[in-house]
Amino acid sequence: SAPVIAIDGPSGSGKGTLCQKLAQHLGWHLLDSGALYRLVGMAADKHGCAFDDEAAIAKLAANLDVEFVAGEPGEPTRVLLEGEDVSGDLRTETTGMLASKVAVLPAVRSALLGRQRDFAQAPGLVADGRDMGTVVFTSAPVKIFLTASAEERADRRYLQLKSKGDDVNLAALLGEIRARDKRDSERELAPLKPAEDAVQLDSSGLGIDEVFDRVLAEVNA
Ligand code: C5P
Repeated sequence: SAPVIAIDGPSGSGKGTLCQKLAQHLGWHLLDSGALYRLVGMAADKHGCAFDDEAAIAKLAANLDVEFVAGEPGEPTRVLLEGEDVSGDLRTETTGMLASKVAVLPAVRSALLGRQRDFAQAPGLVADGRDMGTVVFTSAPVKIFLTASAEERADRRYLQLKSKGDDVNLAALLGEIRARDKRDSERELAPLKPAEDAVQLDSSGLGIDEVFDRVLAEVNA
């Protein structure tokens, strides 16, 4: 099957930007697994599911009706959930929290496994997530675990949301990032941790180009 570069790490570590750059540079497919969990979280919220109703949420995950609509050149891809454009809400912290609530449910994680593995198509895949190297693509030849301090991640998220004109509060963001880290690393199934054979990279104080160059060196090694 196609080669996979598995990139894992906490929210705000710079994974998203890194993976987009890598996929574009290599001409490979990109899996944003966080977006799948976010969509399941939104669907659960929309359908009024209780967050401990594992069976109901797993059913939503298995039948997730999502469409990615490529925009005009230079325009972002629109994401339709059950036909409704949810692009604007997909990346918010509120949706991130919904995602991390459904992500603790084992049946939801297994419902999304096949859908994620289907992305591994020629010529290759850059997979962005929390458990790409530990669960979904265990035999990926390149695994990177990207971290950064919670403070730096909150700063980056702040600038990102602010530039979109969102009304944001740095202290609240830091609190949300810490809460999400805690839930992600303490859950029983697929907790956020580096694979044994992952290269760990701390991006605190590094620019995206430096991170990109270091990861590309691993890919070419
Ligand atoms: O990466 P992103 O912030 O979009 O992920 C949102 C949430 O989805 C994470 O906080 C995590 O709880 C969950 N997630 C996961 N496994 C993945 C990707 C995301 O549990 N592979």
